[in-house]
Amino acid sequence: MGLSERIGRIKPSPTLAVSAKAKAMKAQGIDVVSFGAGEPDFDTPRHIKEAAIQAIRDGFTKYTPASGIDELKVAVCEKFARDNGLTFDKSQVVISCGGKHAFYNLAQVLLDPGDEAIIPAPYWVSYPDMVRLAGGTPVIVETHEENGFKLTPDQLDAALTDKTKIVVINSPSNPTGAAYTKEELKALSEVILTYPNAHVISDEIYEKIVYDGYTFTSIANCGEDILGRTVIIHGVSKTYAMTGWRIGFTAGDTGIIKAVSMLQSQSTSNPTSIAQKAAVAALKGPQEPVDEMVRAFHERRDYAISRLNGMEGVTCFTPHGAFYAFPNLNAYMGKTYKNTRIDSGFDLAAYLLDEARVAVVPGDAFGKKGYLRLSFATSMEEIKKGLDRIEEGLGKLKG
Ligand code: GLU
Repeated sequence: MGLSERIGRIKPSPTLAVSAKAKAMKAQGIDVVSFGAGEPDFDTPRHIKEAAIQAIRDGFTKYTPASGIDELKVAVCEKFARDNGLTFDKSQVVISCGGKHAFYNLAQVLLDPGDEAIIPAPYWVSYPDMVRLAGGTPVIVETHEENGFKLTPDQLDAALTDKTKIVVINSPSNPTGAAYTKEELKALSEVILTYPNAHVISDEIYEKIVYDGYTFTSIANCGEDILGRTVIIHGVSKTYAMTGWRIGFTAGDTGIIKAVSMLQSQSTSNPTSIAQKAAVAALKGPQEPVDEMVRAFHERRDYAISRLNGMEGVTCFTPHGAFYAFPNLNAYMGKTYKNTRIDSGFDLAAYLLDEARVAVVPGDAFGKKGYLRLSFATSMEEIKKGLDRIEEGLGKLKG
């Protein structure tokens, strides 16, 4: 059967593909260490699960409004007021099936053919494909390790055009863990404001997973003008170890929120009723489980980054947030193993999976050559084992 031209514009998600491959190998009894998909290894906190069980017992198992329940929208507004000093009305919030769905919806309601979306690289793997699917044109701007993997105002200025509809800011970033300061965001917002058609999609899903006393700021905190142009996407997946529940949220301009709600009414309908109740418990309940998880991520980050930096030919940026290490392995490009040449992150990731039994995502999937992404949202024991294997595997490469 002939498929649409539209579906031909995208490829499968590389992050999900790597984790699916690692899971399949494990199911075959192969001892593989997975640094693949970014998913907390912790269980969803008990009080959140209890809220979902209660929702089932109460028969809260029917359709809800397509844009989500008011109780959760209010909890989202309270979260923004409490954590970010941002005032949103519930008419400015829509609940979706995860942060990914939130971005997808925005691309669908904001982009027409010819519209450009500026995406700083390294980027999360799905942004460019979701832009393409919507008919927009991704404009990739490469950032560099020397600048802390951050977009500079000059780079942004050079990329902006009258066709720019969206500028994507993801801080803390997946895959680098780079996190912008308020001053840096303010400087970027000043550049954006000179282009009247440009909106910001600020992906703040890793807001709570930050290290070394970094204080999170949203670009929406940089003044009324940029606030009016910013749509924030967020969710409970990473903060509360709720990846499978699929609850994300979007906050911003009422007109955009209405359009997203309409799109959901004609596509997914509501996010799962039970998961919405669980998300209310997550946002309104005790936040100590989050602190505990972040402490564990911090300890793992310190260990993983120092081990990687200690490996021959490897340097690794210290992430300020999220739970990924993004080591530079350019020194290994051109090396060989049993007549196979390593020419890209894809080759290196394939080699590490086949020969060292470690699953990592190639940096190329994030728009950066010569790098790998390792999720350290897995146990310390697995991290140690996986890094030992990587070190040994790299040591076998010749040339
Ligand atoms: N966002 C996570 C990651 O980058 C989950 C997988 C995905 O949806 O990409 O690994």
